[in-house]
Amino acid sequence: MTDTAPDIFEQVADMIIEEDFMAGPKSPAFVRLLSLQFTEAEARLALQIRTTGGTLDELVERTKLKRDKLQKMLQTMADKGTVYYEPGDNPTYRIIKMAAPGFTETGLWGGIKYPFTVQLAKEAHKVLKEWAEEKLAKLGVPYAPVWAAVNTLPADASPAENLAEVVRNEGHWSVSPCPCRMSHWLVDPGNHCDHMLGTCIHTGDLSRWTVKHGMAREITYEELVALLEQCSRDGLVHTLNIQNSICNCCNDCCPMFLARQHGAQVFIPSPFVPQLDEETCNGCNQCVDRCPVHAIAAAEEQYDPVSVDYETCVGCGVCVSTCKPHSMTMMRRPAAAA
Ligand code: SF4
Ligand code: SF4
Repeated sequence: MTDTAPDIFEQVADMIIEEDFMAGPKSPAFVRLLSLQFTEAEARLALQIRTTGGTLDELVERTKLKRDKLQKMLQTMADKGTVYYEPGDNPTYRIIKMAAPGFTETGLWGGIKYPFTVQLAKEAHKVLKEWAEEKLAKLGVPYAPVWAAVNTLPADASPAENLAEVVRNEGHWSVSPCPCRMSHWLVDPGNHCDHMLGTCIHTGDLSRWTVKHGMAREITYEELVALLEQCSRDGLVHTLNIQNSICNCCNDCCPMFLARQHGAQVFIPSPFVPQLDEETCNGCNQCVDRCPVHAIAAAEEQYDPVSVDYETCVGCGVCVSTCKPHSMTMMRRPAAAA
């Protein structure tokens, strides 16, 4: 980095914060993360493209760069995950914002792809924590829908309540490493959750872009459904499906769960809750340990059944996926707990 480098990256940080209401604070970690994802020339170009972007013709006019050179730069920046565009004959290129796709994700979606990726993961881990504490915890409204695990849905669930059905018509699906989990693994080896890593799911145009630029592995619809089931069995919560992004989260280092730990109402619960069969529940407490929001209380006596607090339950179905004696099934959430 040259002596002039911090200024240009700080300007990019200012632009993102000014143009994206979901952006986190302008911290040293965020500026360092930008200095890894952009070269100085790319950062200068980013300030001209901005997050509002423009078509290729408009950007040629705006930047005064030769079309060939601009296209090469845009291609390189898309490969690094800093320029996004929807496919089409005359796409609008824009600098990514904070999420979906954003600077909290794209640098790690491709795995360890560049010499700077491990350093970037260290900065990203700080940025995710700051984002959770300074922005997500202060939004003041729940915004992240929880989807009940597809393999636990009751018979009366409608297609609109089944995540697999909701994304069936997107036509393109892919998966990347979870950037939150991956950054924690790299920053603090051995002191992180033991959940699976390949859980960040993209659909539709976002999926086409991530696959084209080496940030995700394309999967079939059948593989998508199997992956969702695997995530739930692994104890992960399906959430979002916003802007073609599906997260499979746990409460180790996910910024949404971190914001929740700071008292924010982040999640919009699914319309389902677990129903307990007290006759067969053997009090093994595996569901107690697995519930990511601590909605299940262990019984005072060993082998006695557990109890579920529907007010706290977000309806993810992880407990149902976990319960070996099948003592839990999902049912429609009672009106009093909706
Ligand atoms: S995992 Fe199943 S059997 Fe074990 S405590 Fe929970 S509900 Fe009961
Ligand atoms: S009790 Fe916990 S694990 Fe079970 S559905 Fe509710 S939030 Fe999910």
